[in-house]
Amino acid sequence: MRTLVLNAGYEPLAVVSFRRALVLVMSHKATVLAADADNPVHGARFEYDRPSVIVLTRYVRLPHTRLIPVSRRGVLRRDAHRCAYCGKAATIDHVQPRSRGGVDSWENLVACCLRCNNLKSNRTPLEMGWSLRFVPKAPHGVGWVVRGVEQPQAVWDEYLTAA
Ligand SMILES: [Zn+2]
Repeated sequence: MRTLVLNAGYEPLAVVSFRRALVLVMSHKATVLAADADNPVHGARFEYDRPSVIVLTRYVRLPHTRLIPVSRRGVLRRDAHRCAYCGKAATIDHVQPRSRGGVDSWENLVACCLRCNNLKSNRTPLEMGWSLRFVPKAPHGVGWVVRGVEQPQAVWDEYLTAA
């Protein structure tokens, strides 16, 4: 059972264990917004509702842009496993081929099907006369920044949709 942590401005910030959430609440660093009363936590002297969503009492400042490290899984997830050239099911392609200086970055990696990958080989899209279906960029948003939100709980819905 995990707890969604919101910043003092109500933006989703993190997903933590309910124990960590209780520590934050008991040290007055957070207050409970939603709790699972049917499933209490037994402490030494008291019983507590298990927190589902908490909000921090003080605002935590975050860097303006948090860089998300590029990964093959991440690129496939961003591109919904669809080839950036033709839309079919995909693996990974370097837009600018690696053999020609293309780097592993959000801007240079796209999902790509085997057929397009083989046809393109070590050429650029321009040389192939192909265009990308979208401009590849680093992803952003709650689902990428807040780890654990990939498997959201129903009670989190109203807190996640705003962002
Ligand atoms: Zn393709």
